[in-house]
Amino acid sequence: MSDLDIAANLSAVKAAMKSALEEAKRSPEEVKLVAVSKTFSDEEILPAIIEGQKIFGENRIQEARSKWPEIKKSHPDIELHLIGPLQTNKVKDAVELFDVIETVDREKLAQKLSLELQKIKKSIKVFVQVNTGDEPQKAGVAPDEVVTFVQKCIEEYKLPVVGLMCIPPAKEYAAPHFALLHKLAQEADLKEISMGMSADYEMACQLGATQVRVGSEIFGARA
Ligand SMILES: *Cc1c(COP(=O)(O)O)cnc(C)c1O
Repeated sequence: MSDLDIAANLSAVKAAMKSALEEAKRSPEEVKLVAVSKTFSDEEILPAIIEGQKIFGENRIQEARSKWPEIKKSHPDIELHLIGPLQTNKVKDAVELFDVIETVDREKLAQKLSLELQKIKKSIKVFVQVNTGDEPQKAGVAPDEVVTFVQKCIEEYKLPVVGLMCIPPAKEYAAPHFALLHKLAQEADLKEISMGMSADYEMACQLGATQVRVGSEIFGARA
């Protein structure tokens, strides 16, 4: 993918978001675009930064560490989101590398995150990941446990929880999962809703997302 392609893809995604939002009578400012740069190199990420993209997502700690500290030196205003699973023994690294952690989904992780956040002077935002499809192999809090878990994260662990995140089952139509996440966010009294990927970000925009996570539509197919 050339620099020009990446720039053009990025504008196309933003334009598609804008028209989906207009159709849903929502304002374009209501939804942020997280450019998912996992597996892509600095050379592919930089054209997106030059086009003004400031929010990026990565799913692995080690990969993020190999790319982002260097890029952030010259682009300190970038906001980096962790969108992949987080093991408790990687929490210290995660809070150093990331500005937003979207995948908090169990008490042990909440507890460890709470301890690490007390140690560092950095304001991080947290999303709770929801397993909207109740898939046994998938990360995320079960839908009927979301409200209690969010309360616990906020009250007991003092975590700065701002919203909910989901990855719908790969083989299902995503709309019911998006609608469920939206409903759960209202019940948990949270403003931010992270849902929608390359295949369905426009629909997510219409169903209440406040951020979409788009990778391959911007950077091309992953190897
Ligand atoms: C990879 C990934 C994305 C982006 O997927 P695309 O289909 O390439 O847009 C979004 N969210 C999560 C959690 C991911 O792991």
